[in-house]
Amino acid sequence: MSSIIQLLPDHVANQIAAGEVVQRPASVVKELLENAVDARSTDIKLIIKDAGKALVQVVDNGLGMSVTDARLCFERHATSKIRKAEDLFSLHTKGFRGEALASIAAIAHVEMKTKQDQEELGTQIIVEGSKFVSQEVAVLPKGTSFAVKNLFFNIPARRNFLKSDTVEFRHIVDEFQRVALAHPNIYFTFYHNGSEMFNLPGSSLRQRIVNIFSGKTNQKLVPVQEETEIVTIEGFVSKPEFAKKSRGEQFFFVNDRYIKSGYLHHAVMAAYDGILKDGAQPSYFLYLTVPPNTIDINIHPTKTEIKFDDEHALYAILRASIKHSLGQFNVAPVLDFDRDSNLDTPYHYKDLKGATPTIQVDGSFNPFSDDKVNKHYSSGSGYKKAEPTANWESLYVGLKQDAECTTGSADFSFESEEVTGSLFNDGEVEQTVHSAYQIHKKYIVSSIKSGMVIVDQQRAHQRVLYEQFLINMTVNQASSQQLLFPLDLFFSSVEMELIEELKLSLINTGFVFEETKKDHIVISGIPVNVTESEVSLVLEQLLSDLQDGIPESSFSQNDSIAKSMAKSLAVKTGTPLTVKEQENLVNGLFACKEPNVSPFQKPTFITMRVEDLDKKFAI
Ligand code: ADP
Ligand code: MG
Repeated sequence: MSSIIQLLPDHVANQIAAGEVVQRPASVVKELLENAVDARSTDIKLIIKDAGKALVQVVDNGLGMSVTDARLCFERHATSKIRKAEDLFSLHTKGFRGEALASIAAIAHVEMKTKQDQEELGTQIIVEGSKFVSQEVAVLPKGTSFAVKNLFFNIPARRNFLKSDTVEFRHIVDEFQRVALAHPNIYFTFYHNGSEMFNLPGSSLRQRIVNIFSGKTNQKLVPVQEETEIVTIEGFVSKPEFAKKSRGEQFFFVNDRYIKSGYLHHAVMAAYDGILKDGAQPSYFLYLTVPPNTIDINIHPTKTEIKFDDEHALYAILRASIKHSLGQFNVAPVLDFDRDSNLDTPYHYKDLKGATPTIQVDGSFNPFSDDKVNKHYSSGSGYKKAEPTANWESLYVGLKQDAECTTGSADFSFESEEVTGSLFNDGEVEQTVHSAYQIHKKYIVSSIKSGMVIVDQQRAHQRVLYEQFLINMTVNQASSQQLLFPLDLFFSSVEMELIEELKLSLINTGFVFEETKKDHIVISGIPVNVTESEVSLVLEQLLSDLQDGIPESSFSQNDSIAKSMAKSLAVKTGTPLTVKEQENLVNGLFACKEPNVSPFQKPTFITMRVEDLDKKFAI
């Protein structure tokens, strides 16, 4: 039988290798940025078009390449960073495998321009699908520019596999942020489709974090610092009260390289043990420096996983140093650069004695006389019943009395106990609750004609709110409460992009945007079922729910917003409810179009017929 084994031609081998290195446009971003950092650049520009599908370009002012190197860099296993196997144990560069450029050139159209500082002229090379198309001498500035166009042009299956622009863009932002956080001293700029997403001048680490994640981040950070023989730890963790629901801003860097490590994450969480609410996630930006020969970065093609010689010791040191920082912060407040000093207690007040409050007793007060109660409350003796704001109607703009949507947009308040009668007592209610009983601050039990119903309070309220928001948005009858003092909320540029995309739908829920600036929005009106203090929570949850992609159609966009807002605003398990609130909730649920399930398709209630109960007792 004839022999059948052949060596693969280089361009096929490169295409196969490319599958490991380049999964999506963000992988190209990572490789090009890391090469620019390795070339000791101080100014790096990232320019992308259509979430990197049309163009990823990185322009740096680094060392550049000689004519020979410019040609060689596209060969597989061509690297200037290591020469012998031992070099792997003293790495000071991001790259070392010499695979990235060969892989990228195999599956895209690449145009490279490069010039070394001491040379008069530079080199311009075009490679398409591993084929050299042209090489020219050119007048160029110092440094290197790689433009990668039409990624996966020769592998349609991979191209079709790419996600929506929002998702691919998100991945690119993640990679950009990781490199920018690892090198705060380098000036990074990032443009997407012509608009500037980030402009990060070289700065301190704290300033870099703030520049990336918006001004509000500064007050959240607690510094961490520890130096031992096996590791130096630097960076910041967030104060417990700023913990988020999602795992967003969590970064480990080891020797300036972003890494993922479930084990180290666990160490951080252990440091927060007992001071975080269930499921809450702190932000952290932690920089570990270890001797290069005590780690192995070679275990993953994209080099985001790492093996440490002494993991257990690292774990213990990391946990202890974060605990220490958090403890220190509890005793002495951290210096906060952005704090408004006018809000601090003036110095001379601290030494003054506080006046002892005097108690005035109204001897004629009879708590059992209705008349007296009212008089007493309104007599201004310190305990004052909240008066309804005069002209309160004027606080509601756009609230039209439209008979067909009164059920939907009814105010379902759980904040105060002054609920004025059942809101769902018109003909549409199928089963009216007469008495309800809350058990374990979780379920509401109530008797109905055929037996009893047990309602899950959180899911039921989610359903009620969800339908209210949907009606508001789709019927375009958003009821909005005007704020006396507009809210100024800060967001990162990526969050601002999402908000821009969602703006119309948000306006339909009742938000009124007075201004949208580059890094903040001013809100002058909010939906009626949201309180002022909940606004930033609701928006933050919404952005985190939608960061993996905003639905394309406006219908599903509305649906996602309604779901997310219902989730953040619904009364939680563990909240005690008054009988009135319980009744309102159950009535509200059964007035819904789909009372059986929560917006997340979980059952909202179960029923038990009298016969079922009888059977149980018959045993
Ligand atoms: P690696 O980074 O693992 O060495 P790459 O394929 O990414 O492999 O790059 C190959 C070589 O090309 C690098 O070792 C470096 O010498 C050179 N190179 C790549 N990008 C740049 C750049 N932006 N500036 C200067 N040299 C570069
Ligand atoms: Mg590289």
